[in-house]
Amino acid sequence: PLPDREADARVRADDRGHVFHSWSAQAVIDPLPIAAGDGSTFWDYQGNAFLDFSSQLVNLNLGHQHPDLVDAIQRQAGRLATIQPSMANDVRGELARRIAEVAPDGMDRVFFTNGGADANENAVRMARLVTGRRKVLSMYRSYHGNTSTAIALTGDPRRWPNEPADGSVAKFFGPYPYRSAFHSATPEEETQRALEHLEQTIVLEGASTIAAIVIETIVGTNGVLVPPPGYLAGVRDLCDRFGIVYIADEVMVGFGRVGEWFAFQAFDVVPDLITFAKGVNSGYVPLGGVVISDRIAAHFDTMAFPGGLTYSGHPLACAAGVATFEVFERDGILARVRDLGARVVEPRLRELAVRHPSVGDVRGMGLFWAIELVRDRESREPLVPFNASGADAAPVAAVAAACKRDGVWPFTHFNRVHVAPPLVISEDELLRGLDVIDRALSHADEHTR
Ligand code: PLP
Repeated sequence: PLPDREADARVRADDRGHVFHSWSAQAVIDPLPIAAGDGSTFWDYQGNAFLDFSSQLVNLNLGHQHPDLVDAIQRQAGRLATIQPSMANDVRGELARRIAEVAPDGMDRVFFTNGGADANENAVRMARLVTGRRKVLSMYRSYHGNTSTAIALTGDPRRWPNEPADGSVAKFFGPYPYRSAFHSATPEEETQRALEHLEQTIVLEGASTIAAIVIETIVGTNGVLVPPPGYLAGVRDLCDRFGIVYIADEVMVGFGRVGEWFAFQAFDVVPDLITFAKGVNSGYVPLGGVVISDRIAAHFDTMAFPGGLTYSGHPLACAAGVATFEVFERDGILARVRDLGARVVEPRLRELAVRHPSVGDVRGMGLFWAIELVRDRESREPLVPFNASGADAAPVAAVAAACKRDGVWPFTHFNRVHVAPPLVISEDELLRGLDVIDRALSHADEHTR
């Protein structure tokens, strides 16, 4: 698109005058007006292009303006733009069937929501009703959404101003080999000690009071924390032993982000409930949901499920979801993600980690990676403190600004830069983006000791 200063000013004025933004002090933000997007790139009104290395909020798995998704939405809009959830609808049913087909055996039903938070909200509701218990366990360093139960589950600073959020959530430490809460020396030790800690938490909180454990299969915004071998299988065992429902939050990592339909499929484990959103249709129309085990679904065969949403299984959203399945299958998206992750991203990040003294750790899978930045590799002191903002966050803000000047839109959070581009990104674009991050990291190196 050609630069358009008049449109830029108009969009900015309407936004600043009237749009109340998420998570922000309204007077200090300056949202960038965006004119257009295509594939892995989007443009502002001043003619600047940005390679989208964060897939917006890690939801835009098939990139901007994918023609198949746009076409599916347009065709559905022309046919039947909306229909309420208590009626049966062709695309809603087809999408539910397709999700059940790629989910583990014995998980055949889908409850659709508007996004990830209400997916978690409803999964917890199901677990509470099925078990007759109230308490839920979730991890420190997690994000599960912004509705009342979901923000209570959240183990990051976004929960703090919302407290007391829900008195029946207790937190535990998940595995994090680079900053082990358990002083582990190896991933095996981390698995064993993290599971011992979880078991102790269950016993001390009262196993008979715990309805569910909610875990992001790979912790997303809080660090791309890939569980060490055996951890999730151990969680599954604990849930079985104590009659607790295992809820896998796949909102960020499901639908191809790590080269699997669901990330837990890379770890040989089967949860009882799966929550999803984002990548199911790349967020073209809001959609989330819960995939339900047959055992839990059977509980609601005769007892009414006490939950619902006007837009549950919205046809426009579901049409984009069905198109997503078609694109994934036709274009071999899962294999592509595994290949690009292992062949292009991982070696490039490992190589860059050697050269930059500010890089403490790189970790990830598929097209989902974190670069963790430190002041000192020996002590592992974070480059910026936990929950850094303002001047404290300046070294990472400088890395982000350098990326943007070079035409890459990065995802940064506290002392990390994440790599999470659309799954359709070309190899050339991927390499170009990684080059830009490589150069930008010199701004982090300046702050090392
Ligand atoms: N769960 C995880 C792991 C997420 O990353 C997010 C959003 O970032 C959510 C839940 C909440 O999803 P939504 O913003 O669609 O409510």
